[in-house]
Amino acid sequence: MGKRGQLYEGKAKKVFETDDPELLIVSYKDDATAFNGQKKGQIADKGVVNNIMSNILFGILEDAGVPTHLVKQLSDRETLVKRVRILPLEVIIRNVAAGSFSQRYGVEEGSPLARTVLEFSYKNDALGDPLINDDHILALELSTEAELARVRDYAFKVNEVMKEFFRARGLKLIDFKIEFGVDSKGTILLADEISPDTCRLWDAETNEKMDKDRFRRDLGKVEETYRAVLDRVKG
Ligand code: UDP
Repeated sequence: MGKRGQLYEGKAKKVFETDDPELLIVSYKDDATAFNGQKKGQIADKGVVNNIMSNILFGILEDAGVPTHLVKQLSDRETLVKRVRILPLEVIIRNVAAGSFSQRYGVEEGSPLARTVLEFSYKNDALGDPLINDDHILALELSTEAELARVRDYAFKVNEVMKEFFRARGLKLIDFKIEFGVDSKGTILLADEISPDTCRLWDAETNEKMDKDRFRRDLGKVEETYRAVLDRVKG
C-alpha cells in the first residue's frame, strides 16, 4: 500500500494517506503527554507496544462482533486502517473508581462501583475535553441517536470482552477510553487505539499500576511496564 502525504499529527500518532482514498496508515510515536498536554515526555518503544497491543485487541473484538478500523499491521509501528470520521467523543467505561472519577466524586481509587459506568467526554482540547451526557451530545449534534445507541452498545461489549481477556492475563481492567468513527458507508467502527495509554490496568495480585499512570504520576519503571503489559497481552 503506497504511503502518501501526512494527513494529521496528533499527540501519540501520525496519520498518512495512501493510494486508496478509503485507507490510511497510522504511525505510533513514543511521545507521551498527560493533563491535556501540560506534561510532556517520551516513553521508549511505547509506539511499538501500543501498535501491537491495539491490533491484537482489535482482532479479538472484531471476532466478538465489534467492527473495527483495523485492516492490517504493516510494521512494528505502522498499521493500515479504514478511513473514518472520528466522532468527537471519548467513550469511557469504568469498572472500578479511579482517576478523574475518584477526584470528582470524592471516592477512593480502587473502590468498587455498584454498576459499570459509561461516560462521555467531548473531544475538544481547547475546552479541556469536558464531561458531556447523551442529551448534550444530541443537542450539539455530535452524533445521531442511532449512532449513540450503537456506540453505547459496543462500548459495553468491548468492556465484557476486555475484562475477561485481561483477567486471564493477571490484570484488572479498572477503566478505559475508546473512540469510534463512521466510515464512508455510515458504519460505526471502533477506531483509535487500546493500549496502556488508554486503559487503567492493575496487577491482579499486587494492584501495581501497569499503565500510563506510571508516567502521569512519576511512579518509575514506565518503559518496563509497557513492555510487560505487551508480553502479557501476547500470552
Ligand atoms: N483516558 C484517555 N485519554 C484521555 C482521558 C482519559 O485515554 O484523554 C483514559 C485514561 O487512561 C483512563 C480512562 O480513560 O483509563 C479514564 O480516565 P479519567 O477520566 O479518570 O481521566 P484521567 O485521570 O486519566 O485524567
